[in-house]
Amino acid sequence: MALTPYEDALSMVLENAHALPLERVLLWQAFGRVLAEDIRSDSDKPPFDNSAMDGYAVRAEDLQGENIRLKLVGEVSAGGESSVKVEAGTAVRIFTGAPIPEGADTVVPLEFTKQEDNYIVVEKPLKMGANVRLRGEELKEGEPILKRGTLIRGYEIGIMAYVNKVSVCVYQKPKVAVLSTGDEVRDIGESLEKPSHIRSSNNHALYAKALELGCEVVHLGIVKDRPEEIKKVLEQAERYDVLLTTGGVSVGEKDYVQKVVKEMGFEVIFHKLRIKPAKPVLMAKKGRTLIFGLPGNPVSCVMAFDLLVKPALMKMQGIEECRPKVYRATLTKDFSRKDAERREFLRASFWEEDGKLYCDYSPKTQSHMLTSYICANCYLVVYENVKELKAGEQVEIIPF
Ligand code: AMP
Ligand code: MG
Repeated sequence: MALTPYEDALSMVLENAHALPLERVLLWQAFGRVLAEDIRSDSDKPPFDNSAMDGYAVRAEDLQGENIRLKLVGEVSAGGESSVKVEAGTAVRIFTGAPIPEGADTVVPLEFTKQEDNYIVVEKPLKMGANVRLRGEELKEGEPILKRGTLIRGYEIGIMAYVNKVSVCVYQKPKVAVLSTGDEVRDIGESLEKPSHIRSSNNHALYAKALELGCEVVHLGIVKDRPEEIKKVLEQAERYDVLLTTGGVSVGEKDYVQKVVKEMGFEVIFHKLRIKPAKPVLMAKKGRTLIFGLPGNPVSCVMAFDLLVKPALMKMQGIEECRPKVYRATLTKDFSRKDAERREFLRASFWEEDGKLYCDYSPKTQSHMLTSYICANCYLVVYENVKELKAGEQVEIIPF
């Protein structure tokens, strides 16, 4: 059977991943979530004309010439108000954030003045409006500021507090379950009874990666290569939005995950892609639940997550731009391969030098070598039918 190209698989992922229902949460719980409403300013910002400096509120027209003496008639601090008006020839002591008193239009910074008894001397003239923050100069009441689909980071939390959002509408977190399969696979801390047993890294990597994307994640443990055990877990698939399995999706006799998925009548969206590694990856659907059967090889597993599962989890949370972003960089070392049938994704690192991006790939190119991710910050894409890449060539990278 022909292998499915990556773009087609990604389109199928996005066609089948739908934004989850909404929920309202308190602002402080919204960190890392995705906005499901447009946010507008609740008021003009600043809400009133106020001082940008500690100094004196004056009338600019009084400041013609140098060393002008003005009579000090009052004081206004942040949170306060002035009881006096600024009349010709007078000044009011003012602090940052305090409202500009009636009659004043300019603030002279403290450092441009000298105080002499009840007078201040202003050393030089200032432009009218200097150091005054005008009502509404940043935002008008009702002005749109954050759009639905925005990821909420610390900045957005601050901005929403600024406009008095106590609670906010966000997309629900995808519920993700992670299952590892394999007779040889033992979890961390378990004893390896046989030399042929291996340590399970996939379940932990996937758990953390789903958490990183703001999901609610559960570990379903490790099951043996036994169809009944796998079936038992798959029967519960609809409890989750996304079920991630690892291992057992190739064509080997013991690759029961793909067999059981098919036997149970789940709708198979794709199985086997024209990519390297992670060729055997499978995607299926049961009701609204997406099932990703990721390969057991640790690199294949993590890579398939980045390239296929991550876009789905982003879309489910209402993020519109969820396709992996591609950049161009200059390759710094030759690459060649014999079999160029599939699109290969090498673990690589990129950096900036003199305004240009450069990229080098890890010599650990095989799919069992998880440490190829150490120091890596991108995939280097080697397209189908490309047998070699030369140092100095422009290549495509997908940062992660
Ligand atoms: P499979 O996809 O089941 O054919 O497994 C491919 C390779 O991945 C084998 O060498 C497995 O031992 C290894 N593998 C399977 N599951 C895991 C896991 N959870 N963690 C690390 N390696 C695994
Ligand atoms: Mg296996």
